[in-house]
Amino acid sequence: MSQTGKNTNRQRAAASNKAKCGSCPVHKKCGGCQLQNLSYPEQLSFKQSKVIRLLKDFGKVEPIIGMENPYHYRNKVQAAFYTNRQGKIISGVYQSGTHHVVGVDSCQIEDELADKIIVAVRKLLPSFRLTTYNEDTRKGFLRHVLVKRGFATDEVMLVLVTATPVFPSKNNFVKAILERFPQITTVIQNINPHKTNLVLGDRQVVLYGKGYIEDVLCGCRFRISPKSFYQINPVQTEVLYGKAIEFAQLKGDETVLDTYCGIGTIGIIAAKHGAGNVVGVELNGDAVRDAVQNAKANSLTNIRFFKGDAGEFMRDVAKEDERPDVVFMDPPRAGSTETFLSSLIKMSPKTVVYVSCSPETLRRDLQYLIKNSEYKVRKIQPVDMFPHTAHVECVVLLTKER
Ligand code: SAH
Repeated sequence: MSQTGKNTNRQRAAASNKAKCGSCPVHKKCGGCQLQNLSYPEQLSFKQSKVIRLLKDFGKVEPIIGMENPYHYRNKVQAAFYTNRQGKIISGVYQSGTHHVVGVDSCQIEDELADKIIVAVRKLLPSFRLTTYNEDTRKGFLRHVLVKRGFATDEVMLVLVTATPVFPSKNNFVKAILERFPQITTVIQNINPHKTNLVLGDRQVVLYGKGYIEDVLCGCRFRISPKSFYQINPVQTEVLYGKAIEFAQLKGDETVLDTYCGIGTIGIIAAKHGAGNVVGVELNGDAVRDAVQNAKANSLTNIRFFKGDAGEFMRDVAKEDERPDVVFMDPPRAGSTETFLSSLIKMSPKTVVYVSCSPETLRRDLQYLIKNSEYKVRKIQPVDMFPHTAHVECVVLLTKER
């Protein structure tokens, strides 16, 4: 690690994990685990250096928090389906940069049960005479399979993404998969007839169970729908959210905005930690519906959610002269927008907590804030949410006064 500082227990545990990780047979073709030729401590060091390089101008970068066991952490696994010239069905990932499916039966970062379910679906297809979709001819049935698992609740969602709505022998197919995997708590057919890179289409039919799963994070219960964003590494998400809540220093009566809120996780945890009033904003309608349910399920009455663009929402709130105390922001990889950031400056909350999955766009947005306001960066905490990949997450605290 190129920056001195106290090592956490997690880092010490991780440092004992000296083995090189590059044992995956499809590593080159898949391209998902870019750092797989480095040992886990070397990966952490690589990420620490990257964050320091990009963010050192804003302040000290705390030592990255790694995982004790950086394997099989992904709670969401999806596989593309394809039939080759010999008639063999393959399930796996697209070769990086192509639409060629590389067969993957098990993966060192994916949930092991999810991988087994996907293989079982593949093996069941021929006996039900179910075909796979061909992107060139646009014929065939099954496009993708998605599995989501609540690590804390052990609930499992299986989503079968099909090109057409007609699903022959669907009841028997569901019965057969449930016999093999009684752990599955809900099965959903998602219909995606479009020529698109998006995995999920707009229409959904619940074939079994309640149509969503639940998970528990930081003592709060969350409902997760097929299309809602949910952090893919729940172990590290608790670390990440823990830091975000710690940075916010809630005393008990603050007005809090949770922007880019997904299913409302950060805002709900903040409300549980005593925030007086929480408002969340999110673009994805399914996620907002989940967020509203999640607030109810956690018996919270001081939290509301809005569906819309976070930037436009901030502009409207700023116009009304509203002054929140704390703003959490957790934008997608592309980062935030000038509309958002200029409205944030106008609103002038005491504390801004920026959670970012891209240090590059984080740097750009921080540069804007520093240049155009009196905010200063007080803390930068990297968290390893995605071991073996080159991605790194950061939580940043900004305030005006010392
Ligand atoms: N804070 C949540 C979600 C973070 S991911 C969590 O920790 O789970 C980023 C979220 O921003 C996604 O849910 C995505 O749907 C949403 N999003 C993307 N663009 C947006 C926009 N312009 N306005 C509001 N939300 C947006």
